Amino acid sequence: MKDYSVKIGIFDVAIVHKSLEFFEDLLKDDSEFLLGLYRGNRVNPVIQLWNKLTGRRYVETSIHEIIEAINALNDLGMNHTQISTLSNCLTQVLTDNPKVLSMIKKGSK
Ligand SMILES: [Zn+2]
Repeated sequence: MKDYSVKIGIFDVAIVHKSLEFFEDLLKDDSEFLLGLYRGNRVNPVIQLWNKLTGRRYVETSIHEIIEAINALNDLGMNHTQISTLSNCLTQVLTDNPKVLSMIKKGSK
């Protein structure tokens, strides 16, 4: 069941919070530790986030998975290094420049 959703273009991407055990089960054969995951398709796009994430880590992971979704839903073909660079930079710009966020809020009314 989704906790909320994020509108990305014409897509309504469900955000679902999952336990650490859920991510550990996914990663039995993989050494990389995941905090979040974009999966699904254009009919049922879903972002799954670890339910213990807080603060900047939560923001970073959410933005990362949103960019993963944008990449997949629009067939952009970005590699994971490009996605990570974009999500790290966007997180930094949005968290270190509160005026940018208030400008976005004012501009979207
Ligand atoms: Zn990723």
